[in-house]
Amino acid sequence: MNSYDVIVIGAGHNGLVCAAYLLKAGYSVALLEKRSIPGGAATTEELMPKEAPGFYFNRCAIDHEFIHLGPVVEELELKKYGLDYLFCDPAVFCPHPDGKYFLSHRSLDKTCAEIARFNPRDAEKYREFIDFWQRLTKAITPVFNAPPQAIADILGNYDLASLQSLFSILGGPHDILDLIRTMLSSPKNILDEYFDSEFIKAPLARLASEFGAPPSQKTISVGGMMMSMRHNPGMARPRGGTGALTEALVRLVKAKGGTILTDQSVDRILIDNGRAVGVRVQGNREYRANLGVISNIDARRVFLQLIEAGDLNREGLELQTRLERRTVNNNETILRIDCALSEVPRFEAYQHRDDYLMGSVLIADSVRQVEIAHQEPEVGKIPDQDPSLYAVVPTVRDPSMAPEGRHTLWIEYFAPYQIAGATDGLAGTGWTDERKNAVADRVIDKLADYAPNLKSSIMARNVESPAELGQRLGAYKGNYYHLDMTLNQMVFFRPLPEIANYTTPVEGLYLTGAGTHPGGSISGIPGRNCARTFLHIQRPLLHRLEEFGKALLPRS
Ligand SMILES: Cc1cc2nc3c(=O)[nH]c(=O)nc-3n(C[C@H](O)[C@H](O)[C@H](O)COP(=O)(O)OP(=O)(O)OC[C@H]3O[C@@H](n4cnc5c(N)ncnc54)[C@H](O)[C@@H]3O)c2cc1C
Repeated sequence: MNSYDVIVIGAGHNGLVCAAYLLKAGYSVALLEKRSIPGGAATTEELMPKEAPGFYFNRCAIDHEFIHLGPVVEELELKKYGLDYLFCDPAVFCPHPDGKYFLSHRSLDKTCAEIARFNPRDAEKYREFIDFWQRLTKAITPVFNAPPQAIADILGNYDLASLQSLFSILGGPHDILDLIRTMLSSPKNILDEYFDSEFIKAPLARLASEFGAPPSQKTISVGGMMMSMRHNPGMARPRGGTGALTEALVRLVKAKGGTILTDQSVDRILIDNGRAVGVRVQGNREYRANLGVISNIDARRVFLQLIEAGDLNREGLELQTRLERRTVNNNETILRIDCALSEVPRFEAYQHRDDYLMGSVLIADSVRQVEIAHQEPEVGKIPDQDPSLYAVVPTVRDPSMAPEGRHTLWIEYFAPYQIAGATDGLAGTGWTDERKNAVADRVIDKLADYAPNLKSSIMARNVESPAELGQRLGAYKGNYYHLDMTLNQMVFFRPLPEIANYTTPVEGLYLTGAGTHPGGSISGIPGRNCARTFLHIQRPLLHRLEEFGKALLPRS
């Protein structure tokens, strides 16, 4: 049997980040990945080599903001391993049906000037809105970068700037209560409070809903961050696509002596006397883990699919039931459309400029439309009567991703995993090829209402249904965040309070990935936090001293 100090189940970017920290600390690590390439939801692939050779597509994640809130890129020296971030400026373009449009630059001043052309009051309120969410983001970033129940670690992350932001947000007793009120509100409540015009509310609602819930959902006003982060730290893409982040991590892992084995789908975690001692992959091959098994896939799948009930103690069995019945999934996931284009989509009615396409293009005509886009998937309906969508033409910022003069188009469209009443299609979800293509046609039609040259420019297209996406990622019900990102499943509740610190009732079995704090997206932070937890358990004194030493160093 092959034997390592640590086995990581899944080579998503969080698994790779976690492995990199452990390798740097001197442990031997093997990552076992079910797909034939590593990266999970962070890959760039030549998706249609026959119809569109030389066109490279980000199969999932495209825009990176959260990774710039943590130290992963610098600490792991990923530049040295080939990672080069290209910041997007402008960051967001959203044409409105009445001829106005929202165009955000990285600069807040420039963005306010754009808004003021249509509504000077909204421009002033936008400045206040962004200032609030930026201060809040700074104030809570130290919480992201530590295990959520490790108070000392969290406190150690605060520096002068984050403390200043924290105090400016907290203020006096009434301010604290008002802040709590804000956090309990919905994005829609907050947008109505700040703004008058639909052309600005709709795109901000759409971005807030990237947390995977409708803008009317209480307790996720924090979605306001999604816009403020596009100003600072900024929205960036690795040169060559999201997969370039994975490639840099793979180079680092290999350089440190790590092993990455693909086409290895783990189907059992081996437990001996209450302790995780290894894994078995499909085909019955076993791998031994002398110190720990770390899962990059979520706790629900780990405890319900990869562990035999007979291997668990009472605590573990209770956890199994709680994961099955207490973690929630709102049935919303994504239908993906990728196209190879002969030219960029042109927004003729909006004095088209190619730089509108540097960042993300949102089709969000009204808050109501965005609301329906998220409400309907929850009840199993496809919101395709008037689609809202998120589109990107990555080749405008990074021409290296397609043959010269050609472009790619990436579309994200929220859709249900299980279509209500359907039993046909992949895994009985209702998603047949015919249905996914019909929905994709509606989505393309909608984008073409704004960019009339779109349809004639499509050279090839690939549509991936929510069921296919779920199968590719191995994600429960296609949930790309592994677990919904609602407040009741965040921070010290993620995935459940008793396992929120990356450990489980099975000794030596750890959790990382999007299903752990601080959640989904490209950040690498769950990977780093989990590695720190592992190191702290393995060598508490040495790790504490190292951490203390780092805390004394001046911060940039
Ligand atoms: C369409 C789409 C668009 C997105 N856009 C963005 C975006 O623009 N910006 C952003 O920040 N985030 C975005 N996200 C979210 C982000 O991509 C994910 O939250 C993040 O990549 C999750 O990383 P992870 O390493 O935690 O998990 P994953 O990437 O899910 O990795 C888990 C790994 O485990 C493997 N695996 C699963 N089961 C097994 C098994 N039994 N045995 C072995 N291996 C297994 C999987 O193949 C995968 O490689 C998007 C997601 C999707 C789906």
